[in-house]
Amino acid sequence: MNIILLGPPGAGKGTQARMLVEERGMVQLSTGDMLREAKDSGTEMGNIVADVMARGALVTDEIVIGLIKEKLETVKANGFIFDGFPRTLAQADALGDLLEAVGETLAHVVEMRVDDEALVARITARSTCGGCGEVYNDNTKPIPSDGACTNCGKKDDFKRRADDNEESLKTRLMEYYKQTSPLIGYYYAKGKLSRVDGLGAIDAVQAEIKSVLDS
Ligand code: AMP
Repeated sequence: MNIILLGPPGAGKGTQARMLVEERGMVQLSTGDMLREAKDSGTEMGNIVADVMARGALVTDEIVIGLIKEKLETVKANGFIFDGFPRTLAQADALGDLLEAVGETLAHVVEMRVDDEALVARITARSTCGGCGEVYNDNTKPIPSDGACTNCGKKDDFKRRADDNEESLKTRLMEYYKQTSPLIGYYYAKGKLSRVDGLGAIDAVQAEIKSVLDS
């Protein structure tokens, strides 16, 4: 079963996707993670996107569609979770074509709704484990006092994302409302859209998502 988690930055898409990976053996395809990897390893593409990402703007459709195409053609999975992709109508159209080309379909698009003030508070308090990407929050899920990641055990390797600051967040939110939120209507019209309340506790949101997936 292939699904999209759709929502603004800080809605909790990555956290929820990781839980589904663990429990259902699905494969998370996060274009944000792929782009950060390219940037950190200094590939030519990584260097091109670094500045765009730091500003919170969107990388070109061509680049992100290429990344997803490669994964769909090479990775075998018991279902993909698209996290942070698609973000534009052109990407959504391309995803439909790519899935069709590999004989797959899209089962659900889950919109995670969170109000804007909560997003700012979440993002500016967020850090991730450099070992496994586990997400922490200063207020709701602080880094353990012994400094060891609860997921992978790696010690004292927690990072704040370069674009998790108020300035880039403004741009990221604007991009979400201008370019990505039209996908809500797009997938509603295709009969694929479900909504969950992304403001609840992590486990409560996960339960809501699973009930959509099992419906
Ligand atoms: P994320 O980790 O999903 O918040 O993505 C981080 C940044 O990567 C975004 O602010 C964009 O600059 C870029 N990015 C990730 N996914 C996409 C996408 N599907 N389309 C365009 N840019 C993207």
